[in-house]
Amino acid sequence: MRLYVVVITLILGNSFCSFAQQTRKPMLTPGGQPILTPAGTPVFEPSSTASAPLPYANIAQLDSAFMQKTYGEAAKRIIQHALKDSLAYTRLQYMCDTFGSRFSGSPGLERAIDWLLQTMKADGHENVRGEDVKVPAWVRGEESCVMVSPRPYTMSMLGLGGSVATPPGGITSEVLVVRDFAELTRRAAEAKGKIVLFNAPFTQYRATVRYRSEGAVRAAEVGAVASLVRSVASYSMRSPHTGGMRYQDSIVKIPHAALSTEDADIIARMTERGEKVKVCLTMNAQTLPDAVSRNVIAELKGREKPEEIVVMGGHIDSWDVGTGALDDAGGCYATWKALQILKELGLRPRRTLRLALWTNEENGLRGGAEYANRHQNEKHILAFESDGGIFAPEGFAFTGAPELYKTYRAAATLLHPVQSANVKVGGGGADISPLIAQSVPQMNIEVEGSKYFWFHHTHADTPDKIDPLDLNKCAAAIAVMMYIAADLP
Ligand SMILES: [Zn+2]
Repeated sequence: MRLYVVVITLILGNSFCSFAQQTRKPMLTPGGQPILTPAGTPVFEPSSTASAPLPYANIAQLDSAFMQKTYGEAAKRIIQHALKDSLAYTRLQYMCDTFGSRFSGSPGLERAIDWLLQTMKADGHENVRGEDVKVPAWVRGEESCVMVSPRPYTMSMLGLGGSVATPPGGITSEVLVVRDFAELTRRAAEAKGKIVLFNAPFTQYRATVRYRSEGAVRAAEVGAVASLVRSVASYSMRSPHTGGMRYQDSIVKIPHAALSTEDADIIARMTERGEKVKVCLTMNAQTLPDAVSRNVIAELKGREKPEEIVVMGGHIDSWDVGTGALDDAGGCYATWKALQILKELGLRPRRTLRLALWTNEENGLRGGAEYANRHQNEKHILAFESDGGIFAPEGFAFTGAPELYKTYRAAATLLHPVQSANVKVGGGGADISPLIAQSVPQMNIEVEGSKYFWFHHTHADTPDKIDPLDLNKCAAAIAVMMYIAADLP
């Protein structure tokens, strides 16, 4: 059997996961067990990414010896140049401090985009432009969750993106605590007229996020008047984590919010002791008409095959809390810096290297979808995304043909100086996933992300959470890999 290297990782955004499931079958071991990626996500049949025509001639000869001979010197220069200054980090701090959170539909996002376009033009990048995208505009408004009994206590909470509002004055009701959907099904009769709290401890993002994304539907189905979730967090300092959620047209829409893990635990312990807990949830969220945002694009035009494209990037939008430093300004600045390094060193690859900072990843994925639609007649040979936070780099993950997998593993052997000489199976990203249907192979950078879900979607996602050296190392690894991917004969 021809071994394919597949799947999709990540992290992230719900829309990504639901897209994948619609198109592909899970892959099984010869023993019939589902194959899982390191992140615990199922490995799917590669409907198309592995069947695209291979972009490189004599691909079997593109081994590590070839890489060393052809790109060894360039890789050294790139890494040296990447580590020499922290302009990218200074600019990231400036953007986060000056424009604040970059939520879809908000002035902060569009001001940040204006500044990015202006700065990239001033840096002399090619074909710098904003490509319009219609995005949803959800506004949080005033919100709170207060324990009424057994004692008055204001809890730390954040409404979930897309949620409806409560009636004025809020919803006050008893809380039913469940650890998972199965327990809710077992105790459905107790849920009517109550507020359901899904107190599911963090395991893996993909598993735990289900309560955030599907909780409101499941609770409404059994007659709950509102629903709360334990924040999707691997560690907490009483910091609530927001994020996207879904409704179902056939089910009544109830307000849905996240509590800090500490406050979810207080309610759970009280109810385990047999105490009745009552809370008042107040939310003034609104969904306004769609707004216009933009994908930010800049290029290094190919010197021989400019019509062939390697696209790399991250998402420029963030949630409306914190300043989206890890999620995902870091990914945007690491890829922007990669383009900058190649330009400054005069390393123009055979094919076009395109930077794309996609908008609206967090609550709709409209930027990624619009990009795939608008550029569908172009020949993309690889799509790359960084959207897992910026920490010490550890290598890459890839989805596509085995021949390409081997080629990029050979290229990665030049990345020992920045600890990135590894390519795993199962790469991808939310914003590039719409390109799978166009048979575009997928890649992402892997980082030491054990602290990512400490800060993910919180008020604490600020520039101090990024080590400037990690940003430079990630940029170096990305610049070498993308240069080689865009330049191989
Ligand atoms: Zn993200």
